[in-house]
Amino acid sequence: KVRVRFAPSPTGALHIGGAHTALFNWLWARKNNGVFVLRIEDTDRERSTKEFEETILKGMKWLGLDWDEGPDVGGPKGPYRQSERNEIYHEYAEQLLREGMAYREGPAIIFKVPPGLTLGFDDIVYGRIEVQSDTLKDIVLIKSDGSPTYNFAVVVDDYTMGINYVIRGEDHISNTPKQVLLYQSLNWPLPKFAHLPMILGKDKKKLSKRHGATSVYEYRNMGYLPEGLFNYFALLGWSPGDDREIFTKEEAIKMFDLKRVTKRAAVFDMEKLNHINQAHINLLDPYKRVELVIPFWKELGLDVERHDKDYLAKALELLEGRGQTLKEVAEYSDYLLDFEVVKKRYDASDLTETQKDIIKEFSRELVNIDEWDAFKMAEFAKNWAAQKGLKMKDIAMPLRWALTGRKVSPGIFEVAAFLGREETKSRLSYYGL
Ligand code: GLU
Repeated sequence: KVRVRFAPSPTGALHIGGAHTALFNWLWARKNNGVFVLRIEDTDRERSTKEFEETILKGMKWLGLDWDEGPDVGGPKGPYRQSERNEIYHEYAEQLLREGMAYREGPAIIFKVPPGLTLGFDDIVYGRIEVQSDTLKDIVLIKSDGSPTYNFAVVVDDYTMGINYVIRGEDHISNTPKQVLLYQSLNWPLPKFAHLPMILGKDKKKLSKRHGATSVYEYRNMGYLPEGLFNYFALLGWSPGDDREIFTKEEAIKMFDLKRVTKRAAVFDMEKLNHINQAHINLLDPYKRVELVIPFWKELGLDVERHDKDYLAKALELLEGRGQTLKEVAEYSDYLLDFEVVKKRYDASDLTETQKDIIKEFSRELVNIDEWDAFKMAEFAKNWAAQKGLKMKDIAMPLRWALTGRKVSPGIFEVAAFLGREETKSRLSYYGL
């Protein structure tokens, strides 16, 4: 049975690199009906906090990366926090001492690296990697303060937790030969290793704050969907093999294969993320979409409660897929909910006197049209414009401005039809039109 783990250090929020690693582990576990273990590597007592651990868990849950064993849910191979496993590390360090493979230097326990060994492993992504033991210094197992080092704890944990695939960032490739040596010295079988490519910013530099939001939770607040981020992260260093770019989690599980992970560094491309996020917004059930947009409308100070869910769902349908984030969707539809925001954008000098005269005359007739229907209104406008020797845009542009406060919107008669005759009338009269 496939057993994989994500082993974050709770010294910060769940960042993009961590989420990417967690996601690939999760995919591999789900693909193989395996087990996904969450292990908290909190041996750095100074920098690790409970709050960070909680944010990491929250971020993973939000992304839909559920784990089968972990500090909160328990499991047969626990405890799942390194800080609670000290005895286990000491037990194996003592064993290596007894067998003469390690020595003490004061209170520390240090592994003596034997010369003349070739330490190798076949990485699923990077291929064969070999290092001569002569190039390695002795390996500290237990530090003077009694806590284990990363390289030792990770080997003991992966073995005792039955992990058979170690999937992690390529920055750990240089640690792997040391870990291989420890496995061999303890007579433990090697897990399979798959190191994931580095994620770079657009400038090909290591991803950092400079490139924008780094923590997964910030993306949530910016209006990204977990489905969109999931989809995008999956495409960093992997592709399904065809041109397919938009897929659900279930589809990703079906298509995923570690063998298709590339070693070429992946570039974090905001535009592509936006495009994918937009596709997922549009895949949502209309009422679900409303629910997710509501907090962003509220953030804009709109009076959401005034409308029922049907109205709100229809308002979003009117956008016909515009908006790459929930935040944008909320912004692009603000005038459909609340005239107050339009008033705030209103600036009388936005329209010329001629435009005002045209729209005044036109709207006086429009609001009395027999049937309040987008198609009928457009017909009426066309004829009216033709009679006056005007173009359709001479009407549509100022009308759009008056009703939405924007230069771009869905078809303005669709908007008017949606708002209703009374609301349209009252908006136009506000401008004295
Ligand atoms: N705690 C380590 C890290 O966050 C885990 C590395 C590993 O997966 O072995 O980088």
